[in-house]
Amino acid sequence: MTAPDGVITIDDMHLGRPQVIATYLLTGDVPALVDPGPASTLPALEAGLAANGLGLGDIDVILLTHIHLDHAGATGSILARNPKARVYVHNVGAPHVIDPSRLIKSASQLYGDMMGTLWGEIVPVPAESLTLLEGGEMIDLGGRTIHVFDGPGHAKHHLIYLDQQSNGAFIGDNGGVRLPGLSLVRPATPPPDIDLEAWDGTLLMLDELMPSWLMLTHFGAYSDVEFHISDYRARLARWGEQVRRGMESGTSEEAQIAALEDLAAAEAAALSDAQRAALTYQTGAMELSWRGLARYWRKRAEAEAACPPSADAPR
Ligand SMILES: [Zn+2]
Repeated sequence: MTAPDGVITIDDMHLGRPQVIATYLLTGDVPALVDPGPASTLPALEAGLAANGLGLGDIDVILLTHIHLDHAGATGSILARNPKARVYVHNVGAPHVIDPSRLIKSASQLYGDMMGTLWGEIVPVPAESLTLLEGGEMIDLGGRTIHVFDGPGHAKHHLIYLDQQSNGAFIGDNGGVRLPGLSLVRPATPPPDIDLEAWDGTLLMLDELMPSWLMLTHFGAYSDVEFHISDYRARLARWGEQVRRGMESGTSEEAQIAALEDLAAAEAAALSDAQRAALTYQTGAMELSWRGLARYWRKRAEAEAACPPSADAPR
């Protein structure tokens, strides 16, 4: 699979499917993983490492872009087998990997009795294994420098890691979902803390960083960075507007979710059936994307009602 030098894409084969969840292996003196994925895909991760002559015990560093289970769920299980690994995580997300009970509760509301099948066992991560980040730090992987940036939008505990060696940016879910070979970037906006305004800032920051590669968890590495960011920015804004207008119109939730599904289908009209099916699977239920965006607009309206923009103006 295409990726910059020193970066290996491991396909976690989620539920046996290719190109859904990627873990990135940074090779070198200090082997590191970006987003180990959920515990349910550990066998595929181990197979991917083995193909590169490594085992979980050889991993010195785990970089988490954010703590959602599809990215970070396996961290505690890996630490149980390799206690020396150091885990880097956003300080806002850290309490929930130390004590995952709230994370599990929140994910259970979205995934119900599919939780175990989808994500596997969720083991707490020992606090002493964590290094907390907030953006602005530099991580030294045996001479390979990783720059850390705060990247809110998809989640408020989201980081972006820029690898100086490859000039590749590990952006987790901050650049949507895409499949290799497709010129279409699709938003995935599940609850609870989608923030379109913050997301816009993160995309602007990515523009300014000018990475040579964008590494997406869902799925793969892309070198058409300018296209990717602009396509994603436009589509995210369009989806956001569609949900906002739907809420204003007062039609039923079902009708609004169906309208978002129609928009996504129209955008993907030029794809083959197989490509469309793969992209739909990768995005997850459109209902979740609708709920994430609807929650954002509701929270914004509540904040504005509680504190109208003019209230801060000097009198
Ligand atoms: Zn994800």
